[in-house]
Amino acid sequence: MNIVENYQNIVASLPKDVHLITVSKTQSHANILSLYEAGNLVFGENRVQELIEKQAALPKDIQWHLIGSLQRNKVKYIAEFVHLIHSVDSESLLKEINKQAKKYDRIIPCLLQIRIATEETKFGLASEDALNILMHYKELYDNVKIIGLMGMATFTEDQNQIRNEFKKLKSIFDTFQMKDSDIQTLSMGMSGDYEIAIEEGSNMIRVGSAIFGHR
Ligand SMILES: *Cc1c(COP(=O)(O)O)cnc(C)c1O
Repeated sequence: MNIVENYQNIVASLPKDVHLITVSKTQSHANILSLYEAGNLVFGENRVQELIEKQAALPKDIQWHLIGSLQRNKVKYIAEFVHLIHSVDSESLLKEINKQAKKYDRIIPCLLQIRIATEETKFGLASEDALNILMHYKELYDNVKIIGLMGMATFTEDQNQIRNEFKKLKSIFDTFQMKDSDIQTLSMGMSGDYEIAIEEGSNMIRVGSAIFGHR
């Protein structure tokens, strides 16, 4: 398994407007560096501890995305450098990101994570609650900018169910975009389902095991 080749094959297959976030959780610095040297500067991590350790050790022009659920008390560790937070699932978290971003005189781009899966274990906002946040946050929080939505489909073999969940998220995305033109990024699709996600309108995919092999 050659990870650079896997990466290049995926990139070559993507439509131009689809951004790949290489999910490097559990991967060694050496594996990350081999992709960095092949030209990939965008990596996603789902745990804060691992993210800050890698950010400190690896080249400073890497753009780090936080894709996993984020506790409020950990925002302060990533606020200085995080490129995009995909997993904002409450207003209180957005408020804390705003507070920490202000300390560094930054505006941190964020995605609202929408719960589209039927599994109770998946995180995310109901679309009504997300819309409520979108419609009023600018009056309160100057140091965050909501630029789109993220969602994860149910972990299932049922391709139809996955497709329907992505369709639902795309339609929520379209509604939000009509209300706020900052909404441009739709982060949906992982190794097992990114092709369906792209067919349904994703423009940002988060892919780990299809590049690195099984964790
Ligand atoms: C791990 C992870 C991914 C990537 O999963 P793969 O199946 O390895 O591609 C994408 N998104 C989130 C939120 C993750 O935690």
